[in-house]
Amino acid sequence: MIHSFEYFMPTRILFGEVKAAEVGKVVTNLGRKAILVTGKTAMKQLGITDQVTDSLKKEKIESIAFDQVEPNPTIETVNQGSKLARKENCDLVIGLGGGSALDAAKAIAVMISHEGNAKDFLGSNNVPGPIVPLVAIPSTSGTGSEVTRYAVLTDKSTKRKQAMRSQFIIPRIAVVDPQIMKSQSSYLTSCTGIDALTHAIEAYVSPKANSLSDLIAAKAISLAARYLRRAVWNGDDTEARGGMALASTLAGMAICQAGTGAAHGLGMSIGGIFNADHGTTVGILLPYVMEFNLATSLDKYAYIAFLMGQKTTSPTTREAALEAVRTVRDLIQDIDIPLTLGQLKVRIELAPEVAEDAKEQGATKNNPRKLTPQDIKELYQRAYG
Ligand code: NDP
Ligand code: MN
Repeated sequence: MIHSFEYFMPTRILFGEVKAAEVGKVVTNLGRKAILVTGKTAMKQLGITDQVTDSLKKEKIESIAFDQVEPNPTIETVNQGSKLARKENCDLVIGLGGGSALDAAKAIAVMISHEGNAKDFLGSNNVPGPIVPLVAIPSTSGTGSEVTRYAVLTDKSTKRKQAMRSQFIIPRIAVVDPQIMKSQSSYLTSCTGIDALTHAIEAYVSPKANSLSDLIAAKAISLAARYLRRAVWNGDDTEARGGMALASTLAGMAICQAGTGAAHGLGMSIGGIFNADHGTTVGILLPYVMEFNLATSLDKYAYIAFLMGQKTTSPTTREAALEAVRTVRDLIQDIDIPLTLGQLKVRIELAPEVAEDAKEQGATKNNPRKLTPQDIKELYQRAYG
């Protein structure tokens, strides 16, 4: 049987040190006035916002800053950003920051180009057409949002996280500069790095995986296994920072094709209901989800153990697959990610509410082993500890 698939990755990726200071040159001819979308403090404090703005000025591109994006960005925030962009006649959007800033930039770019409220574009394929040029400069090595067709927003009124999914929101250009990521604390490096590994593993075992996404996911898994501990415990390790920057972009490319799975399905619900950190949540869930999926993904897990550096001498594929779960747990422990959800501000009594939301998440539906609402509840309870 021929396995048919489509591969679409339209982003021009510029990878390497000190690329942020060259953004002006990169975007020249793409627009006259940029809106620079960032979080509230980190990029400004580190002087990176100024670096980008100065490089734009050199190319005679005007810019205004929108620095109001909070972690787990809300619909209200992106509506506000798009109002500013429209008032200022911006024709270019530059997202600079973690996944939150990049996702907000995507939504703002959609709303510059199309009439409507951010809510109207959530869900699959609800962006009606192309958007203004969008440039993404990640500052965390985690989400891979710089190359994905997703933007995740939170509805504060209903406490729900929902993704906008559309090929039109894949950034035109990604500037991936590992230097910018050096300022991540150990803790931030852990949570964002485990998010990247979770993307790579979930894409690798996804029912939508194809030969190309597998290649990319496999590389991301081995990079994260090799470099995440080093990046966490020695933030100045340039090689490790570069390895994690590449791992997160590759993992983003993999999920853009293959999607994620139940760690992200439940992770989205928990993120919305408890405003919990995304990377920590999906990282905690990952080994529990891997155990749940074991029977559907034996061969792939066995290979994951190998990719993560285990010299497996396991007599059976099943043993080797279990080795992958153990290897992921060891990594999580080594980088100080909690082993249970109970250690976050998550409440066990809300299991039914979490399950109700998680069963509707696209990522849950894309999990290799199908989950009943009862399965979801039990997974949540197990991961709660
Ligand atoms: P955030 O973007 O939420 O950033 C978390 C914190 O880190 C912020 O307080 C930010 O500061 C700070 N920060 C960012 N970069 C640096 C740096 N270089 N040095 C110091 N501090 C820094 O974190 P993530 O990158 O983990 O993004 C998570 C979001 O991405 C979630 O909403 C998640 O749902 C989404 N996501 C999107 C995906 C996609 O494909 N679009 C995939 C996976 C997750 P400040 O507030 O000052 O900016
Ligand atoms: Mn994620």
